[in-house]
Amino acid sequence: MTRQTKIVATLGPATTDTDSLQAIVEAGVDLVRMNLSHGTHDEHRQRAEALRTAAKNAGRVVGVLCDLQGPKIRVEQFVDGAVVLEEGAAFFLDPALAGDAGTIEGVGVAYAGLPEDVNAGDILLLADGLIRLKVERIDGTRVHTTVVNGGKLSDRKGINRLGGGLSVRALTDKDRVDIPLAASLEADYVAVSFPRDGADIDEARELLRAAGGHGGIVAKIERHEAVDALGEIMEAADAVMIARGDLAVEIGDAELPGVQKRIMRMARERDCVVITATQMMQSMVDNPMPTRAEVLDVANAVLDGTDAVMLSEETAVGHYPAETVASMARVAVGAEAYADESRPSAGLNRDPHFERVDEAIAKTAITAANSLGVKAIAAMTESGATAMWMSRIGTDIPIYALSEQPRTRTKVTLYRGVHPIAFDPTMREHEAVNREAVAELQSRGAVSGEDYVLITKGDLAGVRGGTNAMKVVKVNEIL
Ligand code: PGA
Ligand code: MN
Repeated sequence: MTRQTKIVATLGPATTDTDSLQAIVEAGVDLVRMNLSHGTHDEHRQRAEALRTAAKNAGRVVGVLCDLQGPKIRVEQFVDGAVVLEEGAAFFLDPALAGDAGTIEGVGVAYAGLPEDVNAGDILLLADGLIRLKVERIDGTRVHTTVVNGGKLSDRKGINRLGGGLSVRALTDKDRVDIPLAASLEADYVAVSFPRDGADIDEARELLRAAGGHGGIVAKIERHEAVDALGEIMEAADAVMIARGDLAVEIGDAELPGVQKRIMRMARERDCVVITATQMMQSMVDNPMPTRAEVLDVANAVLDGTDAVMLSEETAVGHYPAETVASMARVAVGAEAYADESRPSAGLNRDPHFERVDEAIAKTAITAANSLGVKAIAAMTESGATAMWMSRIGTDIPIYALSEQPRTRTKVTLYRGVHPIAFDPTMREHEAVNREAVAELQSRGAVSGEDYVLITKGDLAGVRGGTNAMKVVKVNEIL
């Protein structure tokens, strides 16, 4: 069975050498994430090049997502690398302290605005929530706290405030330098870290376009404020990432499952693409098998309708990157077989509302395909939009995005159930094009004999947004 759910894998030291990279691509990675929080521009350039070679060798289409660092607030460094904080002890955070002067008494912070952003009584969470500090008072630049939950605190660990509200701007000076890099790498997607609202997304898109980039914008939902602004963020972005690492720290882990499900439902209703990220198979950093809980986590995201599931440390620094991708692929396929049972409706909302002709064709095509029981959908698409709309509506029928645009083929790697195929529709008349498309699917073993194929396309091939027709053909009648 063809897997519908897409796999995003973060590249890192564990997937830098040619063999490891080739192995994860062959195990089924659909998009790679380049984490711009680490590494130099040259390293990222080499990575992108190596990835494209690996994809070519494997005969697969793999997209590239560049993830901006954003305003992650971190402690500076300790004299001896780390300290162990004891419950009840006093500990201060001070942006004026030298960057390498941290001790058991306190540490520097790489964010000058911290003393203004916090108040007595606030809870600060360090190291992804492992350590909890309660703010007692602010004295000039120094924030005095008491340790509520202790633990080991090492250099450059992140700081979040329970309830959100730290730092204003989403795009940092570093991000503004990294956006042109993403453009020059021809990234298919650029992810914005810690956006608060739609305006942060619009700004990233403007900067990317100004730098000549064509990628879609992914909004990482990882702040309390973003959860309150989901509607406008989804309006502005091409995709959202449920960035559970930081999100859980900001909203509290007990809120996370409900919020994850809400984001997924809202995204599908609003034609937004959705990625579920962080710690999906975390134990596989050190083990060749996932835990039962991890299997359930991946499967539940698939059943709830995620487009993609993402791996972070598992493929960036883990010991079993290819095994993790293979496990994820296997679990996704297993869950997809039961997707029908949890899908709210296998078709359109009762009251469909279309704004565009191509959207109407795409969405009604799925209703037709579902009820006719067609074997495959061939969407001839210039921008990929037709395939995106089709994939917003539940179906098990594979959607083949036939496009002569390489950018479109790497972009649709994120859409659930959509498979890119290189195809030039600007030839001859309609009948010949239909025949070629069906022959292409047949040569891939996707259809044969009595199968029906649903084809969508425009009268003028090669025009964006031109889809205005659907046709249903029987394989052995057209070939
Ligand atoms: P990060 O984002 O890995 O860049 O922190 C994902 C998350 O916070 O879950
Ligand atoms: Mn994050």
